[in-house]
Formats: sequence, structure tokens, C-alpha cells
Amino acid sequence: MTGFAKSLDGGRPASSRTARAEPNGLCDTEIMAPAPDPKSVTVNLTTGTGVVIEWKDGHRSHYAFPFLRDACPCALCDDERGKSGRKPGEPPKLAPGALPMFKEAARPLSAEPVGKYAIKFHWNDGHELGIYSWQFLRDMCPCDQCKAPRTAAKTG
Ligand SMILES: [Zn+2]
Ligand SMILES: [Zn+2]
Repeated sequence: MTGFAKSLDGGRPASSRTARAEPNGLCDTEIMAPAPDPKSVTVNLTTGTGVVIEWKDGHRSHYAFPFLRDACPCALCDDERGKSGRKPGEPPKLAPGALPMFKEAARPLSAEPVGKYAIKFHWNDGHELGIYSWQFLRDMCPCDQCKAPRTAAKTG
């Protein structure tokens, strides 16, 4: 039992706020803390390589399009994830015995800013309800640095 890493306080004090954005709290949850602010947002629509956000604090996040699609924060997708016990960003599980069907990888046909706080995508499957706030995206950052504390918190 030596695999338990206990020293995960790798020096990210300020951003370890526990505010996990409530997926359905778009209107009534005004976040008081300063929301993470991107310095630049690049949506690589033509190359299909995903979204790159450079944050004002110097952090850089890269999100693959299928990951973002599976993390769609709209009520519909959230409900569907809840039913199958998926976390945002987790691809749907196959039903037992089902054959993997070919499905075109999720990719947005277009992206547009929503006010100053979010971005939304028009996906190639026709879905366009999800509004991805910067806060949400920062919380979802899939890089190792951000993922490690999250995974650690889960295992307790
Ligand atoms: Zn959705
Ligand atoms: Zn990160």
C-alpha cells in the first residue's frame, strides 16, 4: 500500500476554491468570487484540435472537442449523465453486449461568445444548448496539474 500519494499540496493555493459550478444554476447563482478570466480563447474549428484557453493567471488549458461535448453543461445533457452516472467529460458507456457504433467525433460547426463570461458551441450533432462559462471550463481543465487534486479529492 505505497501508492497513496499524500503530498498533493503542489503549490496551487488560490485556485483551489471548492465552488463546483452548479450545472443548473445559470440564472440564480451569481458567483461572488472573481471568475477566471481568459486572456485568449482559440477554437480550432478547422483543424478540429479543440479549444485552447490562455488564462490571465498564465495557466493554459486545452480541451478536446469530444470532451467538451460530453461535458455539455445544459440541463438535458446533465440529466442524461446523471441517469448513467457519468461525470462531465466522460464519454457514454456502451450498454452491455452492444456493439460500438461508428459515430462521428463531436466537433462544433461554430462557436460564439456569450456575454463576457461564457462560450457556446453549435455541435455537428445539432446540439447547441450548453453554455460553457469560463468558471466551468477552468474547473474542468483536463491538464494534469488541475486534474490531480480533483482525483485526489474524489478518493478522499
Ligand atoms: Zn447539452
Ligand atoms: Zn489546468
